[in-house]
Amino acid sequence: MTHAQGLSPQLAGNMFDVERIRAEFPILAQTVNGRPLVYLDNGATSQKPRRVIEAIRRYYESDNANVHRGLHALSERATNAYEGARDTVRTFLNAADRREIVFVRGATEGLNLIAQSWARPRLQPGDEVLITTMEHHSNIVPWQLVCRQTGAQLRVAPIHDSGELDMEAFANLVSERTRVVAVAHVSNALGTINPARQIVETAHIAGAIAVLDGAQAAAHGPVDVRALGCDFYVLSSHKCYGPTGMGVLYGRAELLEAAEPYQGGGDMIRTVSFEESTWNELPYKFEAGTPNIAGAIGLGAAVEFMTELGMDAIAAHEREVLEYATERLDELDGIRIIGTAPEKAGILSFVVEGVHPHDVGTIVDQHGVAIRAGHHCAMPLMRRYRVPATSRASLALYNTRADVDALVEGLHGVKEIFDR
Ligand code: PLP
Repeated sequence: MTHAQGLSPQLAGNMFDVERIRAEFPILAQTVNGRPLVYLDNGATSQKPRRVIEAIRRYYESDNANVHRGLHALSERATNAYEGARDTVRTFLNAADRREIVFVRGATEGLNLIAQSWARPRLQPGDEVLITTMEHHSNIVPWQLVCRQTGAQLRVAPIHDSGELDMEAFANLVSERTRVVAVAHVSNALGTINPARQIVETAHIAGAIAVLDGAQAAAHGPVDVRALGCDFYVLSSHKCYGPTGMGVLYGRAELLEAAEPYQGGGDMIRTVSFEESTWNELPYKFEAGTPNIAGAIGLGAAVEFMTELGMDAIAAHEREVLEYATERLDELDGIRIIGTAPEKAGILSFVVEGVHPHDVGTIVDQHGVAIRAGHHCAMPLMRRYRVPATSRASLALYNTRADVDALVEGLHGVKEIFDR
């Protein structure tokens, strides 16, 4: 991630007041199993600040109407709010043009759209799509599908034991046959922050397009698609403090212009006859049907929230909590952290010797601590580490050292039960 080195002057000092920030999240003020809720499952989905919930409520209470079609006041307000969210996201990602911001259902839909609309008409037998061992199923299966449809080959770049991408092997796998390089900006199961700029450059030298899966990156540090130089970037709203069923596909205008529509229907057309239809301009060509208006408005509010806090400040806070969590887990006997790359986002995957991750998750839940246990939609990665699953604590901007202490207390509880 393109983390700036220092914090801006107004964010330095005490600006990142985590207790004040926590107060913005009504859901955090509850007890679970008699303990204060400690939410450490942010890699799966993040909680929503009051202003996101309010923005959605306000839209339904006072502005609800369909967008782009009506001439009445409500439709105009709904359209302005929906399109305003697009402008907010454009600024957030530093895209050159609002036409490059396509609203989709989530990172998953964004990746499928690229595979079907851009790659499918272009790939041929002998072409290659290059991914890595650490990809989420959402950045594996869409490429498998399109390879099956076109006769192209899926290639996989290996990783080191630390969870870092093997850049030498990666570079050797990129050739004139490579048409697409698709890599996670941040790994959901390891936390590794990949050297995205270098990956993009390597892809471009070979004439391939570079796709970055930003599902685990966009909420945790600054993302500048122009500085990264990528051709496509996807993110999920619900992992960025926004609502579910909403996501963003950034695509360079030139590539989006050349891509086929993804779905047909209302709004994505310019003209329709039974003989032939023509397509609307960007980004509407890819937004068939009534869109998720409330979702876009909620995402816009979430992006404003993160921007006000400052992405550098969020990254610095989470890095500090991650370092503390890593130290505390390292102190515990019988715990192995999976994913120890020096450049890591706030994700801690671990296995407890002799205990199934599902049991770890269930026991720490008794302490009010929500973590995830499973394969994290990364089965090939689990196979790479020869584990069926891991436990995963994943951080957000509202997590604290006290949350980490609660997790460690829960893990002591696990050991007490299994050491008996
Ligand atoms: N990519 C990564 C790295 C993820 O972690 C996830 C979700 O966990 C996805 C893609 C898919 O996101 P969504 O299910 O929100 O579409």
